[in-house]
Amino acid sequence: MPILPPLYNYRKPKQTRHDPFYDKQRWRDLTISHRKEEPLCRKCKERGIVTAGTLVDHIVPRLEGGDEWDEDNLQTLCDRCHQSKRQSEKNKRQRVQA
Ligand SMILES: [Zn+2]
Repeated sequence: MPILPPLYNYRKPKQTRHDPFYDKQRWRDLTISHRKEEPLCRKCKERGIVTAGTLVDHIVPRLEGGDEWDEDNLQTLCDRCHQSKRQSEKNKRQRVQA
């Protein structure tokens, strides 16, 4: 039995910010059931590209008052589309605050 190295390099999955909302079991169950309904990235699909979705996104962000539990406010996205959506939301918020 080899001796395992110490876990000094152990890291939690990378997250840009930690929001306890996303740890909720109810949210996890909701994303699982949503991705069964909609397994492909919606934004890619709109452009005619078939991409497997990797996460479930709130169409209207929670920060902007979107309903976090409303299925109609959910969409499956891939990492790339989610990042670009996040970026444009951030830009929009900065413009509003400015
Ligand atoms: Zn996509």
